[in-house]
Amino acid sequence: MKGDPKELGFDSRAIHAGQPPDPRTGAVSVPIYQTSTYAQHGVGDTYAGYEYSRTHNPTRTALEECIASLEAGTHGLAFASGMAAIMTVCSLLESGDHVVLSDDVYGGTYRLFARVLSRYGVTFNLVDLTDTEKAQTAFKPETKMVWLETPTNPLLRSIDLQRVADLAHINGAWIAVDNTFASPYLQRPLTIGADFVIHSATKYLGGHSDVVGGLVVVRDQSLRERLTFHQNAAGGVPGPFDCFLVLRGIKTLGVRMRQHSANGQTVANFLAQHPKVEAVYYPGLKSDPYHEIALRNLGTGGAADSFKTTDSLIIKAGFGGMVSFLARGGESAARAMVAKTQLFTLAESLGGVESLIEHPAAMTHASLAGSGIEIDPALVRLSVGIENENDLIADLEQALG
Ligand SMILES: *Cc1c(COP(=O)(O)O)cnc(C)c1O
Repeated sequence: MKGDPKELGFDSRAIHAGQPPDPRTGAVSVPIYQTSTYAQHGVGDTYAGYEYSRTHNPTRTALEECIASLEAGTHGLAFASGMAAIMTVCSLLESGDHVVLSDDVYGGTYRLFARVLSRYGVTFNLVDLTDTEKAQTAFKPETKMVWLETPTNPLLRSIDLQRVADLAHINGAWIAVDNTFASPYLQRPLTIGADFVIHSATKYLGGHSDVVGGLVVVRDQSLRERLTFHQNAAGGVPGPFDCFLVLRGIKTLGVRMRQHSANGQTVANFLAQHPKVEAVYYPGLKSDPYHEIALRNLGTGGAADSFKTTDSLIIKAGFGGMVSFLARGGESAARAMVAKTQLFTLAESLGGVESLIEHPAAMTHASLAGSGIEIDPALVRLSVGIENENDLIADLEQALG
């Protein structure tokens, strides 16, 4: 069993999948193969299948095998950024194709569809996919793909993954799920019908705010072949050192996510009873309108390997570290608060060990301007890190006070 990481639980695979000891030296940590090319014994007769590092690199192979295992997929592909990963999946679209795009996505994803893919003749509709009726009527004959994130960004709403996957397939479309917010520890969309899972590895997978990267995972061999072709043809690949950093981050994904979730829940509970807070968006609050759907989606996560029943799974694995809320007093109150925290750093991005705070309307989601989607300027988004919860609460308390 020890030789076959497939048989191991999630936390074990995070450490061992794709990462046997280095065959040449026994190095326990996958070496950084800092090379662009590989010697050949004769023409086309390679040592181990490697020819050129845009096409393949052993450090990248380890990362690709590891993420495929964690997402319960069969094939992983690594990219230089989350956006390069997203663009590569979208390269499978053709002029005339239509995409159903969730109306609550990362601003950069919207920008890619609105300002880049539109020039190649790919059209899209922004749809509230939390609304089953709207989801049902969003499809056109030329719809080729549904693109979504759940929990959504920045409102942490949950989309019924199983249901939207079924709808996509009935309509002959692919479903692509950006799983950056949940990570495979909490949610594995491929297990309930998704065709593509995409990550900004910059966030929870890297986990330490020290690397930019992207990943795609699929189960289908022909999708794998088409993506691998585009990965090499367009060339948006990560360097070996970045792959090493993401692999290193992934080793502690389970322990970090448990702490992110515990702190996220504590922070959400604190904010929910605070007089200066108008509303809290967090799927782990029982009062959250998307709580039940979140339970279903999150029940698919790799955390299930550690816990026997879904109930204990949710109690122990939790709902992640992203929390958003509306400041009472509107935009000025929100802006004042994000400038006042000390432990929560005012910054874009998320998913690192350190807590961050930001103002989506002016920061991460500024690129939605002109989309018709309004981000409430009183909205504040937190990426709750893994510091001591008392320190986090004290910081929010003083910033709100
Ligand atoms: C950050 C992010 C991206 C883009 O990833 P980069 O690594 O910054 O290119 C895509 N989707 C989500 C949900 C993100 O948070």
